[in-house]
Amino acid sequence: MLIYNSLSRTREPLVPNTPGKIKMYTCGPTVYHYAHIGNLRSYIMEDVLEKYLDYSGLEVTRVMNITDVGHLTSDADEGEDKMLKGARREKKSVMEIAKFYTDAFFADCDKLNIKKPAIVQPATGCIDEFIHTIEVLIDKGYAYLAGGNVYFDISKLKQYHVFHDFKEEDLEVGVREGVGEDTNKRNPADFALWFTKSKFDDQELKWDSPWGVGYPGWHIECSCISMKYLGEELDIHCGGIDNAFPHHTNEIAQSEAYIGHKWCNYWFHVHHLNTEGGKMSKSKGEFLTVSLLEEKGYDPMVYRLFCLQSHYRRSLVFSWDNLDNAAVAYKKLVARIAALKEAEGEQVDVAEFDRLKQKFSEALDNDLNTSLAVTAVYDVLKSSANAATKLALIADFDRVLSLNLISAAQKVREEQNKSAQPAVDADDPRAASIRERIEARAAAKKAKNYAEADRIRAELAAEGVTLIDTPQGTTYKIN
Ligand code: AMP
Ligand code: ZN
Repeated sequence: MLIYNSLSRTREPLVPNTPGKIKMYTCGPTVYHYAHIGNLRSYIMEDVLEKYLDYSGLEVTRVMNITDVGHLTSDADEGEDKMLKGARREKKSVMEIAKFYTDAFFADCDKLNIKKPAIVQPATGCIDEFIHTIEVLIDKGYAYLAGGNVYFDISKLKQYHVFHDFKEEDLEVGVREGVGEDTNKRNPADFALWFTKSKFDDQELKWDSPWGVGYPGWHIECSCISMKYLGEELDIHCGGIDNAFPHHTNEIAQSEAYIGHKWCNYWFHVHHLNTEGGKMSKSKGEFLTVSLLEEKGYDPMVYRLFCLQSHYRRSLVFSWDNLDNAAVAYKKLVARIAALKEAEGEQVDVAEFDRLKQKFSEALDNDLNTSLAVTAVYDVLKSSANAATKLALIADFDRVLSLNLISAAQKVREEQNKSAQPAVDADDPRAASIRERIEARAAAKKAKNYAEADRIRAELAAEGVTLIDTPQGTTYKIN
């Protein structure tokens, strides 16, 4: 597989540190509010990456943090902790809102078929690890105490700015925010590892440390949580593109200073979902959530398809018209799958299966081209393969796409079945018994018990009931 690496700014073959295994880390949500559908775009694309690696036979271990302390409103060291801001907004404790929005985040992930990473670690559960790492960084001469806070000294590194493929203005803003505001810093881009000189005297989030009572910086959380569970060599680190600087840049600085060697090989950044008015952001107040999409009548799968139809390294503009187009495409796609009808005893054509699967894999092997992977589903439908092969391929692809293609098609068939029941049913005293046996026959066919299916058909025929198999299901006529 070729994957774009923000470090080298090229597509590189993905070579795991340990053959057959991938260690993957994802920056989790800051749980002071609901996730907006922009955040969820990042998690959808990361989910596809994890599932595709697994589909390709790699054993993936994925870790995600939950940011429940230390993420300040500026992403750098300015402003106040987003969690405190959220708690004040809702007149609740920080831990109450952290729990509420963590649960809400995973409920949204569930609706979008985003798999929960094997390990999820809230930052407030790892304070001892953060303190230990910061102590080592001080001992090694990479960190210093000034004005009551502990800072990382970027001048001690050979190279600090490791990502260059994001807008120069963004970087300047990040650096400028550090300048002038915090005179404790030796270099403008130095960043806080631990705050003791809290700007908020009575804040709830504080712990004892060798440098006084305080709280950790946001960046140290991800370095420590990743290393705690995945060790000193990470294969892939994911996040939205806004995380490249300063967050990931700082993660690399402190992790590599701590371990003394290269830390993570591949940096996978998902570009933003924008509204027509600009970047979607939680702090802007009004923002779009999965629940809002549902209230407006959209199946969350429509949003997932909308995301998969574009490449993760392009920014994507959200509009209701664009979402409507995805809704139409999803409905048509499911209807075409629902119309596939396996003939009795039909077998999967292995050569055809492999040929069509190849297209799907080629698309995703090419820097996770999900839009071509979706096209591969249409190619299957258009192909001359039999229905059994088509259905097997679609079920196989959906292990990665996770669009509920097979179950949604099944629901469509059931709906069509219901409406296809003959009107005479209501007056026919045998209707219930006939329907029961039609269902038993369908179940027998599904279990490939064709002898039983044939027996039921013959039994009904003997009673003067002829079964009619249609693409929408089985109906009958009474002779
Ligand atoms: P946060 O909850 O703010 O820490 O962000 C969670 C994830 O969403 C991070 O990986 C961010 O980089 C990502 N993210 C933030 N805004 C957007 C957006 N508009 N589009 C896509 N991803 C985003
Ligand atoms: Zn992070």
